[in-house]
Parts: sequence; structure tokens; C-alpha cells
Amino acid sequence: MQGNHVEDYFSTLLPSFSFAMNSYLLNNIRGKKMTSCLFCTMVAGEIKPDVVFEDDTVLAFRDINPQAPVHILIIPKIHIATLNNLDDTLLAGQLLQTAIKLAKQEGLSEEGYRTVFNCNKKGGQEVYHLHLHLLGGRQMKWPPG
Ligand code: 5GP
Ligand code: ZN
Repeated sequence: MQGNHVEDYFSTLLPSFSFAMNSYLLNNIRGKKMTSCLFCTMVAGEIKPDVVFEDDTVLAFRDINPQAPVHILIIPKIHIATLNNLDDTLLAGQLLQTAIKLAKQEGLSEEGYRTVFNCNKKGGQEVYHLHLHLLGGRQMKWPPG
């Protein structure tokens, strides 16, 4: 009888422990899906942006509030909060190569375009899932403000 009570006790506790651990892992381990992250929900297909390119590593879609005739966001499929957390040189190259390819696809290569990573508050970052802005189709100004 005593043994059964102990089993009952653990079988009640285990699911909530396992749920808590899963939530912890989902929200805290770098590179995993963040349940609360807007861009992770796009990668998961729960929100469907206007996708212009996708492969195993990156997703590129049109910005909802474009600041130029062409304004595309290129994101890693894994959750990386800011440029400060980007230590994967292969992934960095893949983001940039995607920008170069999409600039060509959008007819921007010859006239020119701008790529921007906004990092943290003073960098103007609003969405804390790394993204590379690709802007083009108008004359860019300097300083950018
Ligand atoms: P940040 O200021 O973080 O560098 O840029 C975030 C960008 O994400 C902004 O240009 C903003 O317009 C864009 N954005 C925010 N929410 C959404 C959304 O729900 N869908 C799309 N496609 N872009 C978004
Ligand atoms: Zn994310």
C-alpha cells in the first residue's frame, strides 16, 4: 500500500515537472524555438508572413511596415536574440548570401541597396530575434538616423 502511494505521488508530480522542464528548455536554450517570439512563430508556420525565400537555415519575408519599395527581413530559423549572440560564422555568411541573392532577384544589385542589423535598444532593435534588413528601390541617405 505504502509503495502504491509513493507511485501515485510521483505519477502526479512527473507530468507537471516534465511540462516545467519543457517550458524551460523551449524558452531558455539558445537556438531552440522560443514560444513567445514573433519570428519563431513564423518559422513554426503559426503566423504566415509574405515569404520570398526559405531553406533549412534561413527564412526571408517582406516587412509588414516597409521603409523602402523593397524591404525584406532575413532571419535564422533558430532563435538568436541579437547580433551580439551571433557566433556562428557559417550562419552569418548564409544570412548575407541570402541578402545578396534576394537583392539580385529583386533587381537591386546594380543600382544598390542597404543591409542593416539593428542591435539592442540604441541600435533601434524592436524584435529580439536576429534579422537582417534588406532595403532598396529608393535613394538611401547617410547618416541613417
Ligand atoms: P527591428 O526594429 O527590430 O530591427 O525590425 C523589426 C522589423 O520587423 C520592423 O521593420 C517591423 O516592421 C517588422 N515587423 C514587426 N512585426 C512584423 C510582422 O508581424 N510581420 C512582418 N512581416 N514584419 C514585422
Ligand atoms: Zn525567435
